[in-house]
Amino acid sequence: MVHLCVMRTKGKLTLQVVAFCWHFTSLRYKFYIMQIKPPLVSYCEQVRNLPPDNPDRKHHDHVHGFAVKDDNELFGRLIMEINQAGLNWTLILKKEENFRRAFEGFDILKVAAYGEDDKSRLLADAGIIRNRRKVDAVIHNAGVIRGLQREYGSFSSWLDHHHPMGIDGWVRLFKKTFRFTGPEIVNEWLMSTGYLPGAHREDCPVYDKVIRSGPEWLKL
Ligand SMILES: [Zn+2]
Repeated sequence: MVHLCVMRTKGKLTLQVVAFCWHFTSLRYKFYIMQIKPPLVSYCEQVRNLPPDNPDRKHHDHVHGFAVKDDNELFGRLIMEINQAGLNWTLILKKEENFRRAFEGFDILKVAAYGEDDKSRLLADAGIIRNRRKVDAVIHNAGVIRGLQREYGSFSSWLDHHHPMGIDGWVRLFKKTFRFTGPEIVNEWLMSTGYLPGAHREDCPVYDKVIRSGPEWLKL
């Protein structure tokens, strides 16, 4: 059984082949996912003709790919990526201020201390994504980041400690460190925060501004 589907992330289109095949050697069914890259449409192209106040246009022009050093902001971006899983990125962007309010300014210290009352509050908040696995993962990851801050001085220093590293290494590291951080989430988050290149095309008007912000991927 073979399925073909088109997956959309950050406005980019990725062709994904999902195959469920009988494996004769092990006499078991095996599940395969193959992605065909490069993306058909870049985020840069997708937002080019949108008005300046459009959420995607604003994110592309002022946030996506720019260097981020503040731990809470890095955590907030991870919250956004985790919540996007399976959903439309524009929907998440429209809810950004709701996420910021619900998770108290993306304050790692506060979120790491969340108990059952806070979980109930978040799961009753129609302004964000009410998904128990995502809420649990965000709170768990805040606790993990607190541990990294204690050991490395900051979340940002922990990232710098492992930089530079290819996407496969980052995916393995995130898998053993955090919850709900699959390859797509890790890749998007690292590009968005400047640890991996590829957020903008070189002919994008924002590309030079991103370079001037000093993304880590430039410091190889
Ligand atoms: Zn761009």
